Amino acid sequence: MANIVAIVGRPNVGKSTLFNRLVEERKAIEDNVSGVTRDRHYGHAQWNGKFFSVIDTGGYVTGSDDVYEAEIRKQVKLAVEESDVILFVADCHDGLTDLDKEFADELRGSKKPIYIVANKADNQEKAFMANEFYALGLSDFEIFPIAATSGSGTGELLDRVVEHF
Ligand code: GDP
Ligand code: MG
Repeated sequence: MANIVAIVGRPNVGKSTLFNRLVEERKAIEDNVSGVTRDRHYGHAQWNGKFFSVIDTGGYVTGSDDVYEAEIRKQVKLAVEESDVILFVADCHDGLTDLDKEFADELRGSKKPIYIVANKADNQEKAFMANEFYALGLSDFEIFPIAATSGSGTGELLDRVVEHF
């Protein structure tokens, strides 16, 4: 089994920061084969002796807002299709936004395990904001407050993620 984790969410929530924290060798594999997958980044990671791949989405598109939106939707769709576990990243500084809800709608109906990652939980007060994201109605699993910049909370998240592998 491939063991693929996709990181999805609206721009600026910290997906790439989380990706860089999880992968050992940054951008270890870049898929240059097809125009469709070109804009996603892949990396290798391991936790508790389990090996898996991570896909970062959403950050490599330029163009008009329409192109951008269509492209990220496509990326999210493909990443979700090829992944085994989905990390939906939101931002505790901004709280729940309309764009978060739109991204969440793209994931609804997927039978894959989805973890909501409440990033930028830099302190207890911000971590408390994570509860807002239950309103996304996305996940049977708990929400994980993390700070991708410091790595705080990522261990607890990965403990659960690798249970699937
Ligand atoms: P992406 O667009 O979702 O890939 O987001 P990026 O990873 O590029 O991060 C967007 C901004 O959020 C950058 O300025 C990051 O430094 C910042 N950021 C990421 N994680 C954290 C965090 O845990 N705490 C804080 N305060 N900022 C963060
Ligand atoms: Mg990014």
